Amino acid sequence: MSNPTPLQATCLCRTNTIQIPTTLPLTAHVCHCTTCRTSHGTLFAMHTDLEVLPFSESSPPSTFRVYQSSQDSGKAYFCGTCGTYMFASYFYMREGARHEGFCVSTGCVSLSDSYKSENPTTKLEDVLSVDFHCIIKDTIDGGASPWAGDWSKETQVQFHGNWEEPPMPSQEDAEELGRKYVYPAGRKELDGWCRCKNVKVRITREDTTKKYKTGVCACDSCRLATGTDVATYTWVPRDNAFFVTKSENGEEQIQEWPTIWDDATKAKFGNMIVFESTPGKVVWGACGTCGARIFYQRYGKTFNNGKDLVEPLTALFGADDTQGIMHLDFLDWAVSEDGIYWAEEAEKAGRAGIMTRNVNLMYQKWVKGLQSRA
Ligand SMILES: [Zn+2]
Ligand SMILES: [Zn+2]
Ligand SMILES: [Zn+2]
Ligand SMILES: [Zn+2]
Repeated sequence: MSNPTPLQATCLCRTNTIQIPTTLPLTAHVCHCTTCRTSHGTLFAMHTDLEVLPFSESSPPSTFRVYQSSQDSGKAYFCGTCGTYMFASYFYMREGARHEGFCVSTGCVSLSDSYKSENPTTKLEDVLSVDFHCIIKDTIDGGASPWAGDWSKETQVQFHGNWEEPPMPSQEDAEELGRKYVYPAGRKELDGWCRCKNVKVRITREDTTKKYKTGVCACDSCRLATGTDVATYTWVPRDNAFFVTKSENGEEQIQEWPTIWDDATKAKFGNMIVFESTPGKVVWGACGTCGARIFYQRYGKTFNNGKDLVEPLTALFGADDTQGIMHLDFLDWAVSEDGIYWAEEAEKAGRAGIMTRNVNLMYQKWVKGLQSRA
């Protein structure tokens, strides 16, 4: 039976649940470019192309904010309440003509309720799959491409370094980029920022042998918060994490990372969308201009030594497109008992086969490889 709106897209706060008219099956492509990474706060974006946006471009839902980097560029549509980057339009050239394309963030997509009632045994992974990875060379060090494949399908997905060259022969070639890259020695700080550069985050360390743990999470909240099936965040002592703002005369000002996002703090960081997913306990921050996910924060969360812990999104630290994005000299890529965190939620949502199940295995193998290299 054909269903006119088989899919829907949902944001983290669920203010927006938007029915998507399309036909199944569909594919997602995984883009590793700096624009996509800094737009979502993720190591790569997962976009599913649509023929049209499911709303009028001239009058998008009032619950959305719209970001356009310049008059000639496409637009990003993100939730004005929670900051989830949900849809985008973009321009591309084909046969000398300029065309407009549209996409939805794959992490926001699920089967619509009406489709599920007609097709009770179908899972999202049965009708949506990854077809290629692109712009891997933007990451300098290969980024997540050594482990972010799709190994569930008979035909292997292709890995494009950039559009000027033929695709890489194998995933090992993507991994080779990381093996060859050497990070600058003795770094004591890492800066990260969002696509529009209105939010800048800095993490510091006194001891250059000490690394901060970074986790890869596939839980429903991280997925809906970033629009991507896996999100990464870094556990940093609050004393070593800062927001860098600009004064009126353009000078950099270092701001302490807040312990709590109350009304006074929100007013101080007026550009940030702060959404409390568990009132009084858990907040999510996003850039209010471009919609990039910036942080996750659990009030009162501490390290074993009692120091406050904050969690900026790791991928922001890949915004400087000359220094790599995995920062193996600064970050310790963590593996939980089960591999990546909350992989079971992707299984439960019927979407693990799109990405997560394979990411989980490949990621564990990659981390083991790092340990044997060290
Ligand atoms: Zn929302
Ligand atoms: Zn991209
Ligand atoms: Zn921004
Ligand atoms: Zn999570």
